[in-house]
Amino acid sequence: MKNIIYLDNNATTQLLDEVWQDMIPYFIQNYANASSVYHQMGREANSAIQQARNQVAAALNCSPKEILFNSGATESINTVVKGIFDKYRAKGNHIITASTEHKAVLSCCDQLTKQGAKITYLPVDKDGMIAIDDLKSAITPQTILVCLMAANNETGILSSLIEIANTCEENDTLFFCDATQAIGKINIDLQKIGIDILCLSAHKLHGPKGVGALYIRRKSKPIQITALISGGGQENEFRGGTYNVPAIVGFGKAISIVKPASYKIVQQNRDLLEQVLADIPEIIIHGQGLDRLPNTSYISFKHILASEIMTACPTLALSSGSACVTGSREPSHVLMAMGVSKEYALSAVRFSLSILTSRDEIIHCAQLIKEAVQKIRDQSPVWQLFKAGLID
Ligand code: PLP
Repeated sequence: MKNIIYLDNNATTQLLDEVWQDMIPYFIQNYANASSVYHQMGREANSAIQQARNQVAAALNCSPKEILFNSGATESINTVVKGIFDKYRAKGNHIITASTEHKAVLSCCDQLTKQGAKITYLPVDKDGMIAIDDLKSAITPQTILVCLMAANNETGILSSLIEIANTCEENDTLFFCDATQAIGKINIDLQKIGIDILCLSAHKLHGPKGVGALYIRRKSKPIQITALISGGGQENEFRGGTYNVPAIVGFGKAISIVKPASYKIVQQNRDLLEQVLADIPEIIIHGQGLDRLPNTSYISFKHILASEIMTACPTLALSSGSACVTGSREPSHVLMAMGVSKEYALSAVRFSLSILTSRDEIIHCAQLIKEAVQKIRDQSPVWQLFKAGLID
């Protein structure tokens, strides 16, 4: 993988060496079960988990008691959406989300529809934003959950979290925020934003795969969620299963290293990429000029399929959108919801950088993309027709 320029960091990131070094002892020397607190090895493993819990809580500015570990954001989303629906049925059956949410949210909602849930999918405008007035008018006395993400995984566009949280608070409705792409890259201070429930995932911030956390606000009236995985009573009976100690330790380390300040240079590199690629005719840089994640650039190239560009650049690790839907040949549901044409949606390539991406890699990537686009268009009859003004 030596010559690969890895620009698919919204799919997953490289484990940092410091993170790996901290994980190793819990594979080999202290392999104890963290619930075996009757012996020293178990107690040490347990305190490593508590330390990681403190590290995650510190990054979010919440209490460690409000953090639960699990396998990642997909599990959190399933737990919250299904578990709230189960517990709050006496209050209502209405959930509000947006058409641009991650597939994990959309598929949970779809599943619940078959069990009698009523789901409102808020539309987004051309900038990928929901209208707060739409949210306000969608909330009814039967609304039990508003589920909206902090940052979109494809476009990087940021939601208006404060306005959403305030609206939910004013209407006494729970707000669950999928912050999987945002944590580490932008500041989310849970003392300042009234998010009730939030999920995050270690592998998006240079930690290991298969571990994540769920924040559940401790309120005077506790939030009720039915556990998705019952078992040996771990996480206060909320999430059964033997603790994955090395992964949790790695998560804590990663979140204590990867901070929004680390993304200043990432943003400069992303902006440089967009500046150089802007020379290419007939491209759209989705979300440019809007509040976006500092590492994400999502670009459509007119009359070229994203797959053609990626095939022409085998040394670049890119994506045509969400990794979970890649290969499906369907245009991005996010771009379609933003009103982008199917043709432009099928030509969208996502470049997602990380704190490990170098300026040289970006310059090289931009060069390769420019050459590839030119070559593909030179050989494309459709492009010739477009240039001759015969088609749009
Ligand atoms: N939510 C968002 C916004 C994501 O980008 C992802 C991963 O792509 C997920 C949820 C799922 O995360 P995990 O891989 O931890 O299950």
